[in-house]
Amino acid sequence: MRAVVIHAPKDLRIDSYPDAAPAPGEVRVRIANGGICGSDLHYYHHGGFGVVRIQQPMALGHEIAGVVADVGDGVTGVKPGTRVAVNPSRPCGQCLHCQEGMRNQCLDMRFLGSAMRFPHVQGGFREFITVDATQAVPIADRLSLAEAAVAEPLAVCLHAGKQAGPLLGKRVLITGCGPIGALMILVSRFGGAAEIVVTDVAEAPLAVARKLGASHAINVAANAAALDPWRTGKGVFDTLFEASGNQAALRTALDV
Ligand SMILES: [Zn+2]
Ligand SMILES: [Zn+2]
Repeated sequence: MRAVVIHAPKDLRIDSYPDAAPAPGEVRVRIANGGICGSDLHYYHHGGFGVVRIQQPMALGHEIAGVVADVGDGVTGVKPGTRVAVNPSRPCGQCLHCQEGMRNQCLDMRFLGSAMRFPHVQGGFREFITVDATQAVPIADRLSLAEAAVAEPLAVCLHAGKQAGPLLGKRVLITGCGPIGALMILVSRFGGAAEIVVTDVAEAPLAVARKLGASHAINVAANAAALDPWRTGKGVFDTLFEASGNQAALRTALDV
C-alpha cells in the first residue's frame, strides 16, 4: 500500500509500505481522511521540533478517520464497515501516570506519526492502518469522515476548555485562529461563553472565526490598538486560550 512518508526536511515521498493483518485485539482501518497537524508541518519544514528529530523514514499523520476493513480475534466493539475516528494515542496502561488515570502523561506513549521514540511510530497518512481496537472509535452516521478526522484536535480543545473551568457567561480571548483556535471558538460557545474575541495576524483564519460565531475577530497585525476596549483596569477577559504559539500574543493577552 502507499503511504505519505517524510525522509528529511522538504523530502516527502509516496512510498510503498507493508500492510499488516490485524492480530487478536486489533483492527485494520481503511483511511479516508487525515488532518495536517502543526507537528506534521514541523516534520516537513524542519525535520522535527524541540529535541524530537526524524531519524528514519516515517509516515506522517495522526488526525485520521476511516472505515474498518478487518478485525482480529476477540474484537467486538467494531466490525468491517464501521466508520471510525482513530485515536492516535496508545498509552501503556502500566506506568505511574497511567495508573493515576492521567493516560495523556504516559511515560511510554505510542503516538501515531511521532518521532519521539525510536523506532518511530509510523503515522496514518496511508491507505490502511492496523491499530489496537480501543483506538478505533465508532462515529455517528451524521458525521462525515472528514469531520471525524478533526476529533483529535477537538479533543485537545475540549481538554483545554475543561482545564479552564466553567465558561458559562465568561469573556473569552482566543489568540491565534488556526484549527486549534477555531475549534476553541466552538468549545467556548458550547460552554456558554458570553463573549468570544479572537485575534490573528492573517485575514483568512479571521473570516473562519466569524463564521464559527466569534463575537469579534481582530487582526492585531493591521490594528495593534484594536484590543484597547478590553484593556480597562487590569483587563476584562476571564479566560485566555493561547493558540498562536507567538510570544507577542501571550504578552498582549496578559494586559487584557
Ligand atoms: Zn496534532
Ligand atoms: Zn503509561
